[in-house]
Amino acid sequence: MSEIYDITIIGGGPAGMFAGFYSGLRGAKVQIIESLSQLGGQVSALYPEKYIHDVAGFMGIKATDLIDHLQKQVEQLPIDIRLNEIVTNLSQQKSDFEITTNRGNYQSKAVIVATGVGAFSPRRLAVEGADKLENKHVFYTIPDPERFRDKTVLIAGGGDSAIDTALMLEKVAKHVYLMHRRSQFRGMEHSVKLLEQSTVELLTPYLLKQIELADDQLLLTMKEVKGEHLLQKQVDDVVVNYGFISNNKTIRQWDIQPEQQHRMFTVDRQMKTNVPLVYAIGDGVDYDGKLDLIATAFAEGPMAVSAIMKELYPDRRGPLHSTSMEL
Ligand SMILES: Cc1cc2nc3c(=O)[nH]c(=O)nc-3n(C[C@H](O)[C@H](O)[C@H](O)COP(=O)(O)OP(=O)(O)OC[C@H]3O[C@@H](n4cnc5c(N)ncnc54)[C@H](O)[C@@H]3O)c2cc1C
Repeated sequence: MSEIYDITIIGGGPAGMFAGFYSGLRGAKVQIIESLSQLGGQVSALYPEKYIHDVAGFMGIKATDLIDHLQKQVEQLPIDIRLNEIVTNLSQQKSDFEITTNRGNYQSKAVIVATGVGAFSPRRLAVEGADKLENKHVFYTIPDPERFRDKTVLIAGGGDSAIDTALMLEKVAKHVYLMHRRSQFRGMEHSVKLLEQSTVELLTPYLLKQIELADDQLLLTMKEVKGEHLLQKQVDDVVVNYGFISNNKTIRQWDIQPEQQHRMFTVDRQMKTNVPLVYAIGDGVDYDGKLDLIATAFAEGPMAVSAIMKELYPDRRGPLHSTSMEL
């Protein structure tokens, strides 16, 4: 806990990402903490392929491209980004805040809560023993495709991410199976076509029932959906792409509980909660006229950051426009 951040942003969705960039622009020492292995919040997790038409400056932009732009913007500045870290507690330590995650503790002078609809996590396999194999033989994200070079891999899932993962791993793995509980895949037509032309072996309609580990290999038993047929395959690894779930339970366990109504943080016009130096922005807040939109989330970040900088450094005069700042 050597460094003290000026601003810690909890949540790396569009609200948190742009607030992080704007904090950096204002010369704040800032970190963004995100529970998932990727930034982008709902946009990346729930609708990466959808076109967004109501973000200023774009006639229409694919959700995943918008997040790429935001990520590049954030990466221009020295902002600490902590992925795969869920904030399990927010408490007061003398004049600073202590932020506790599953990986460590951090100190910060101010906090912006940008937790949206809650912390996202991958929907996990409901198969006995799968939890003990996590990150050894069962994966929910792919840190590096090289990990799967010359391996036999089974991908579980039927949406775009499962198809993309299968096609990506086809290039490095010895053999790829794609198991889905339906006979039809839900992916984009173009991806499904590529899948049909690939060497990926489709196993449908099956669900994984049992995983056994023997000699560093997995013996998978799958059961036909609405049928009795059992199928067994020996593989090195399983990659699960069953989408994401979100929950707000961890936030409800924090020591510091900013005032909420209907599970939304109550904020004033500067995005202040009732706890001094704790601000909140994005889909997780409520005020008169609030709209759950990316455009609104983008606007709330600079308001919160400017108010925080004024509180922390009252003698510093903040610039009004980015054109008067140095990048
Ligand atoms: C299907 C769908 C379509 C949409 N289409 C549009 C559209 O066309 N235009 C538009 O403007 N808006 C659209 N929206 C709404 C838009 O996506 C949201 O307004 C926006 O994502 C809100 O951003 P946010 O950063 O506040 O929250 P989120 O996107 O929910 O991000 C919050 C982030 O915080 C993280 N987090 C939460 N708790 C913790 C914790 N304790 N520790 C660490 N991390 C945590 C979560 O993992 C998440 O990544 C759509 C929403 C949906 C569901």
